[in-house]
Amino acid sequence: MRQIFDIHGGIHPPERKELSDPGFVMDCPPPSKLVLPVTQHIGAPARPIVEVGDTVLGGQMIAEAQGPVSVPVHSPSSGTVTAIASRAVPHASGMTDTCIEITLDGRCEWITCQGVTDWRAESKAALLDRVRLAGVAGLGGAGFPTAIKLASDRAIGIHTLVINGTECEPYITADDTVMQCFSREVVEGAEILAHMVGAETILLAVEDNKHEAAEAMRDASAHLASAEVVTFPTKYPSGGEKQLIELLLNVQVPSGGIPADIGVLCQNPSTAMAVRAALIDGKPLTDRITTLTGMALGKPGNRRVMLGTPIGELLAHGDFNSETSDRVIHGGPMMGFSVTDLDMPVVKITNCVLAPTRSEIPPPQPQQACIRCGLCAEVCPASLLPQQLYWFARAKDQEQLERHHLMDCIECGACAYVCPSHIPLVQYYRSAKGSMREASKEKVRSDNSRVRFEARQERLERETAARDAKRAARKAAAEARLEAGDDPVQAAIERAKAKKAQQEGEQ
Ligand code: SF4
Ligand code: SF4
Repeated sequence: MRQIFDIHGGIHPPERKELSDPGFVMDCPPPSKLVLPVTQHIGAPARPIVEVGDTVLGGQMIAEAQGPVSVPVHSPSSGTVTAIASRAVPHASGMTDTCIEITLDGRCEWITCQGVTDWRAESKAALLDRVRLAGVAGLGGAGFPTAIKLASDRAIGIHTLVINGTECEPYITADDTVMQCFSREVVEGAEILAHMVGAETILLAVEDNKHEAAEAMRDASAHLASAEVVTFPTKYPSGGEKQLIELLLNVQVPSGGIPADIGVLCQNPSTAMAVRAALIDGKPLTDRITTLTGMALGKPGNRRVMLGTPIGELLAHGDFNSETSDRVIHGGPMMGFSVTDLDMPVVKITNCVLAPTRSEIPPPQPQQACIRCGLCAEVCPASLLPQQLYWFARAKDQEQLERHHLMDCIECGACAYVCPSHIPLVQYYRSAKGSMREASKEKVRSDNSRVRFEARQERLERETAARDAKRAARKAAAEARLEAGDDPVQAAIERAKAKKAQQEGEQ
């Protein structure tokens, strides 16, 4: 039996997972309209390739990837494009973004999907292309383009694929449900992923509060000698990629690095299933399993929901009682953020929509002064110093934030959870990270401008030097002619005199 290691810190908040009854999926009926943001992933937005008035089919690409770190968007059903406009999208900052609105015709007509007959016989490049064109991005909540992760060109090869079925955040049971209801698809997806990256070992990692999911994974992977189901004690946030790798393999991903740096690839069970669907069924990513939960719902549970479905319509399917709730959360209670507009759509990263009652998750209490108790540092799974990060974030001291590895913060919220002063620490970190990313982009921009300016200066200096050299050469040649008695001015005067004498003679 595999030895399990411990990670620094962590907390045990109430799990509340029973509310959404994992292991059972209901289909959410298609809404009348879908709102599909062109950015549902980390990276460059996709570029719309349809216009208002176009009719589209389910599975049809409606926005294409722009650049290497981007993924396309597909229509989940048939209908007409009725708007391409800025709309509220799920994001911690409450931002708006370009969305393609499709009014559905109710016929649910799809393009013909063509999968590969034997994925083992296909080249890695061909498989990657299919994953990219199917619009697959990490469905665990991060939204990183899956094809980019699979195309890793690190010097060290990938030796271990980890299917991260930890799902440690309270309330959320989407991956638990996927592992129970679609275990064969998840395992086949894992096999394909391992084949693509050349991993010899597949670890199917499940927290010990998901017995049925672990059992289903064991049954589905029994035929695979390279696969092993690993269970470990429940603790938040064991599901962070770096934390899970340390827990399973007792190795740390270097600060600022990624799992591929140490030969590990992590993928979420839903993402593995989406990769399988892209290759075997030829089906692009147009829907997902999302947990609909919270005590303000009469019918919580896991739903298969079309991407682009307005969150308000999904809530209505769960018998949402708005009288008892004054906020809806996209994601879980630890890492999620408030839904500012119920027309906001379900997107690729929507693993949970949580509608708690006021007593279930009370509104945040007023922030008080830090009492330097150190509890935040005790629970930080990344071994950071959250209290110092808080002070540096407030002081906008980017140098110190960098020195204290703010970018290694996984925004798990464990520090804020235990803070007796109710300081919304993660909000400070998110805002500071945003400023640091902006500053680094600005530095790249100003470095590029400086390089362009210096190149122009060099070109101008080269041109001036070339002109000076030509002028000097002409002067030297003239002086040489003078010295040789070959005065060009005198010669011109003589030629003019001769011409005049000739003209007079002719008269
Ligand atoms: S837990 Fe809160 S009060 Fe205690 S040191 Fe950290 S930030 Fe300060
Ligand atoms: S949010 Fe960041 S600083 Fe706070 S506990 Fe999590 S990793 Fe540590």
